[in-house]
Amino acid sequence: MPSKVFEIIEKEQERQNRNIELIASENFVSPDVMRAVGSCLTNKYSEGYPTVRSTGSRGRYYGGCEYVDELEEYCCDMWRKVFRTDYHVNVQPHSGSSANIAAYMSLLSPGDAVLAMNLNNGGHLTHGAPVNISGKLYDMHFYDVNAHGFIDLEDVRKKALECRPKLLLAGASAYSRKIDFAAFAEIAREAGSYFMVDMAHIAGLVAAGEHPSPFGLADVITTTTHKTLRGPRGGLIFCKPELAKKIDGAVFPGTQGGPLQHVIAGKAIAAEEACTEAFRDYIRQVVRNAAAMCKAFQEMGYQVVTGGTDNHLFLLDLTDTGLTGKAVQEELDRNGITLNKNCVPNETRSPAQTSGIRIGTPAMTTKGYREADFIRVAHEIDRIIREMRAKQ
Ligand SMILES: *Cc1c(COP(=O)(O)O)cnc(C)c1O
Repeated sequence: MPSKVFEIIEKEQERQNRNIELIASENFVSPDVMRAVGSCLTNKYSEGYPTVRSTGSRGRYYGGCEYVDELEEYCCDMWRKVFRTDYHVNVQPHSGSSANIAAYMSLLSPGDAVLAMNLNNGGHLTHGAPVNISGKLYDMHFYDVNAHGFIDLEDVRKKALECRPKLLLAGASAYSRKIDFAAFAEIAREAGSYFMVDMAHIAGLVAAGEHPSPFGLADVITTTTHKTLRGPRGGLIFCKPELAKKIDGAVFPGTQGGPLQHVIAGKAIAAEEACTEAFRDYIRQVVRNAAAMCKAFQEMGYQVVTGGTDNHLFLLDLTDTGLTGKAVQEELDRNGITLNKNCVPNETRSPAQTSGIRIGTPAMTTKGYREADFIRVAHEIDRIIREMRAKQ
């Protein structure tokens, strides 16, 4: 009898085939990534790092690591190639959150001041939310977006000079505009702070040259591999060579045990794919699709936070409609359109309700959608929202 698990996986596969996937942080990996992640590498323990390492790391704690050593070295080389950088890279973090926690541990002591983007305005849970370990361990300060939803660099500078953070953090989960990493780096220099960039959402755009790169500016750069990079679920940490030992130690043994070599294999394949012209074409299409869909909503009278988008996502402010983000998310779900509710700047509702929704184009662009397809979906969403308003 087939396991119940495979029945569930089959149902999930059908859901993924059927639904229109607009969650900005999701994507569909290639068959090669899937195959690597489902490989025999899941059987192998390899605590530690490849033996021959420029940083003088100590090697592995288990025997039989000759092939995973080769794999991990290759994965590191490929990610440096993706971002055209000589930064040190650690490919072991199990997720974006694990990467961030290890990065903090390598740079900070408990109680140190950190300045990051407000969660309500597009930041991430691991950027100091009170419920997250980052918010419990560090003295968190937050910068805001202005009334139009843009990062307010004057506010960043003012707060950085006030609280003199040990770490200034740039990066967001729900921000549709280019982030001026050079301006952040300058503020970090003025304030005497480390500068860290969490490019989890936009890493694919950075790789393809569609967003300014933080390399050369930031001391530490973290990312996920499963969002616009279209790899397996996981994290990466890049750092300036002088921080390599601290970063590696903070990942293992600081916060993790054995690395997931099957996922590292998937990350290496994703890196190979990210170096291709086909990937650059894909990312350019993601950005064009987001712009086209965003414009379609604006032409139908919807309010878009910041009035547009430079990247793979945008936020609709539903305040005028009287509907909550939650209600719209749920009604769209019933209609086979998947996305998530999101706070808007100066949000008046709770994070469980919200006044906005976040829409992203990476996943459906992978499925081959182009501008006209996204415009069609925008009209479909508008139809559903209008029906909801008629019933209010
Ligand atoms: C998604 C995201 C993360 C966390 O990634 P997980 O793999 O879900 O832990 C961290 N930072 C930012 C900015 C993100 O958008």
